[in-house]
Amino acid sequence: MKVHAAEIVISAVSKKQYPKSALAEVALAGRSNVGKSSFINTLIDRKKLARTSSKPGRTQTINFYLIENKFHFVDLPGYGYAKVSKQERAKWGEMIDEYFANRKQLQAVVSLIDMRHDPSEGDIQMYDFLKYYNFPVIVVATKADKAAKNKREQQISRIKEILDFDENDRFVVFSTVTKEGKEEAWKAIEEFI
Ligand code: GDP
Repeated sequence: MKVHAAEIVISAVSKKQYPKSALAEVALAGRSNVGKSSFINTLIDRKKLARTSSKPGRTQTINFYLIENKFHFVDLPGYGYAKVSKQERAKWGEMIDEYFANRKQLQAVVSLIDMRHDPSEGDIQMYDFLKYYNFPVIVVATKADKAAKNKREQQISRIKEILDFDENDRFVVFSTVTKEGKEEAWKAIEEFI
């Protein structure tokens, strides 16, 4: 998809603030620093609509982006900071549950995982959670440009194995640097919007 119009609608901290719109939503989840903002910006051809390099301690929000007046990208707060307090972690859990529990507009979830490493505990929990709720998932393996070329296939298999990947889901190898996977990611997303 060639994107001409993209704008942030709201940074929500609770359900009351979610857009009233009935448009389809595709949510994005991932460990902090996995490349989630970069992924959104690459897909919509913007340098920095989504904020990159988020720092720990920043207010956790769910950001709704309206794309081409057609659907919403819903950027969920990142997980996995070692340094967040128990309180912040609990708050994160509540926000995520509140969104997933009864958001009828949600059609699919992009789950971003750093291609260079094995999935983290948080990555595994997120994927399990999404599968438990039967959401279609598009796993996006990020930073492919930094992953060793000769170990690629092996690493993809490892990630799938560790996640207990459902072959009905999509798996896209992606890089913001080379733009590898951009078309494939759009194709996968367009199935749900
Ligand atoms: P977020 O916290 O998940 O939103 O992650 P960001 O999009 O802010 O990215 C975190 C860091 O990883 C930044 O320094 C990005 O420039 C870098 N990064 C993101 N995607 C890629 C990628 O595909 N390749 C490389 N080499 N670096 C990336």
